[in-house]
Amino acid sequence: SENLNKTYQMGEVEVRALKNATFDLYEGEFVVILGPSGSGKSTLLNILGGMDTPTSGQVYVQEKELTSFSDRQLTQYRRNGVGFVFQFYNLMANLTARENVELATEICTTSLNLDEVMGKVGLSERADHFPSQLSGGEQQRVAIARAVAKNPLLLLCDEPTGALDFETGIRILELLKEVNLTYNKTVVIITHNTPVGAMGDRVIRMRSGEITDITVNENPVPPERIEW
Ligand code: ATP
Ligand code: MG
Repeated sequence: SENLNKTYQMGEVEVRALKNATFDLYEGEFVVILGPSGSGKSTLLNILGGMDTPTSGQVYVQEKELTSFSDRQLTQYRRNGVGFVFQFYNLMANLTARENVELATEICTTSLNLDEVMGKVGLSERADHFPSQLSGGEQQRVAIARAVAKNPLLLLCDEPTGALDFETGIRILELLKEVNLTYNKTVVIITHNTPVGAMGDRVIRMRSGEITDITVNENPVPPERIEW
């Protein structure tokens, strides 16, 4: 992505959420985005996911310019090209765990085997439970299964452990790393927890809408060995 800018016009006031953000993502990478509240992390992720458009600048996905996709291409990319995981799971309350995952794959041209994915996230026994019958950590596992089952190019996670206790959060980070390795998925996670940077193949640091630093970790640390 090159020179991404995003400006929000709030009445008289201009908010520059992204300032000339330029970076690359490589296939199969695990990338951690760090930065204080309001630094533009979610704005960046939403643009990558085709959920928001930059005011200027380009995003390239496998050589194709996302920022000039037709509506049809963009819809296809949103449905099948990216999987999102959010802090508050955003599951459908009236559907079971399995149905939540199934629904997401119905609009996809490529998807993984549902039962295999449910097993991978450790939910085979809970597949017929409704979200209200699941713990926070289990609900996040459903959300991860839902995102992964579409077999997207990118798995984009905005504060995936933000609503979970410490131990459950680490289990979720382990699962995301496992998904990254098993399915060779490019995973991008946003977090407020600086130590989590240690598990990334690369770490992107942001401040006031700018990418201030991109670090490569030659030896990423497994989540259970992060020093907090
Ligand atoms: P947090 O860690 O709190 O989630 P963030 O790094 O994800 O923060 P963003 O949500 O990307 O930050 O916001 C960056 C800036 O853009 C902030 O100043 C925010 O107020 C502003 N902003 C974000 N979305 C909008 C919007 N839809 N309309 C107006 N301003 C917005
Ligand atoms: Mg955010």
